Amino acid sequence: MLKGKSAIVTGSTSGIGLGIARALAGQGVNVMLSGFGDAAEIEKTRAALAADFGVRAVYDNADMADGAAVAAHVKKAEDAFGGVDILVNNAGIQFVSAVDEFPEAKWSAIQNIILNSTFHATKAVLPGMKARNWGRVVNIVSAHGLVASPFKSAYVSAKHGQIGFTKSVALEVAENNITVNAICPGYVRTPLVEGQIEDQAKVHNMPRDKVIREVILAAQPNKRFIEIEEVAALALYLCGDMAKSITGTAIAIDGGWTAR
Ligand code: NAD
Repeated sequence: MLKGKSAIVTGSTSGIGLGIARALAGQGVNVMLSGFGDAAEIEKTRAALAADFGVRAVYDNADMADGAAVAAHVKKAEDAFGGVDILVNNAGIQFVSAVDEFPEAKWSAIQNIILNSTFHATKAVLPGMKARNWGRVVNIVSAHGLVASPFKSAYVSAKHGQIGFTKSVALEVAENNITVNAICPGYVRTPLVEGQIEDQAKVHNMPRDKVIREVILAAQPNKRFIEIEEVAALALYLCGDMAKSITGTAIAIDGGWTAR
């Protein structure tokens, strides 16, 4: 059902975004990639997507912190594919600090990359989706869009904001066969989380295994990381026809974290 459609997955050079890009490509969806990293590695990733799944895969180095670049990114995808049917707002960063010491630049970067890019990309794709009377917007949020942790005020604010945005836009486009949903994962083992394991091991002077169980997964009742493939499978489901009546939701995939 998705074969021949086209998608943008922001922040797709690694982690969850790359997993979702591969899952979509596996269904015959053309994908526009973005994100940072080693140029040769990115080209290898892009070429593998196209070769493994026989789809068109294009990379653009747009900085999601820059609203004009996000709008231009959508335009490039529309020009390359003739339209964008699926938008996955996934790009994100984390920074951990007490709020009274939070660096202004980090605060702004988190709001820009997570919340403002979701606005700019969604704004840019909706006219085309409305014209074709079909679309899917999937926002990769977090359990931190539903509940808070200390020292993550910028991230928690941006992620809560993404859920509000998801609900509002879902209402606006409900009659256009466009759904807008948020996926709220608990901890998924990606480079973003690997960095946190290292940092916490140093702060607590603990071995990595203990940090994972007692610090990172302290709030996650199933005590294991969520796999990228689990998140990608949910994103794929939301893009499918059987999810056409699911809109404006925030679906937790968090091992029970937010059931507390
Ligand atoms: P990751 O670090 O592996 O991937 C993040 C991606 O975003 C990378 O491709 C990176 O290059 C890209 N990116 C970062 N800044 C960018 C910018 N300014 N412009 C363009 N691209 C940029 O992280 P991940 O864990 O896969 O995270 C993906 C999303 O999932 C994020 O929004 C994150 O908040 C969310 N999330 C992650 C977890 C987790 O446990 N890993 C849990 C819940 C939600």
